[in-house]
Amino acid sequence: MANAKPRRTAGKPRHSPAAARLRPQRPTTAKAPVAASFALVDKVYGEIREAIREGVMRPGHRLVERDIAANLNVSRTPVREALRLLEAHGLASSVSGRSLVVTSLSPSDVAELYFAWEHLEGLAAATAAQNATDLEIDAIRQIHALWGEDDSARNLGRLNKRLHLTIHVATHNGFLMRALRTIDDSVSLLGFSTYSLPGRAKEVAAEHGAIVDAIARRAPEDAAAAAHKHIRRAGQLRMAREVELSGAFAPKGSLRALRTGRN
Ligand SMILES: [Zn+2]
Repeated sequence: MANAKPRRTAGKPRHSPAAARLRPQRPTTAKAPVAASFALVDKVYGEIREAIREGVMRPGHRLVERDIAANLNVSRTPVREALRLLEAHGLASSVSGRSLVVTSLSPSDVAELYFAWEHLEGLAAATAAQNATDLEIDAIRQIHALWGEDDSARNLGRLNKRLHLTIHVATHNGFLMRALRTIDDSVSLLGFSTYSLPGRAKEVAAEHGAIVDAIARRAPEDAAAAAHKHIRRAGQLRMAREVELSGAFAPKGSLRALRTGRN
């Protein structure tokens, strides 16, 4: 018997008119505007973020699409899209609704950032203690062993980032990794590194050692406590340094303390 297969319409999910409008359309032959490739936008985004992190572009620096495109030797389209992303992620802000500048964090923003960072980093260390593979634990130990107390603040900053990133990957939790990436982007706005402070590199070696040891022992509570202590200490040093460099207690909400506290 020839069974005519019924068309599968009965089980099809019903969409609201709004959702239906978002349904992918068949490609048309009409020429669409050329969009920048994701890879290029990502590269431009990364270049600007690193320029911010390394103090080449400081808070308040005007982000001019044409100049950035010329400096990076790319067209303006990927720069425009990267700037939109930087704004969406809070690294760039528009002033007077027109020009875009590198975001200035207020003292209360900095305190909020460190609070969120401390708790997420603690969660990451605890999760890594539970989920890291033996190979990942070896990698974390090896990176920690590269720490040299006499190395430059810049190199230590990079090594620190590598160590924390390896711990984040060892959580095997994509949501946690994305949240930490957002935090790390905002951390790039902080400017100067606390590793330039006397004795800090040695302190960090011990703080990292406690985190690495707890992860290797698969002790989530100890790992979380060690990570909390590490980020809280960094936050305390930064706040103290910024108040010291400002030369005075700036009025509440003033950005002067932070601006003069760079490097
Ligand atoms: Zn660290």
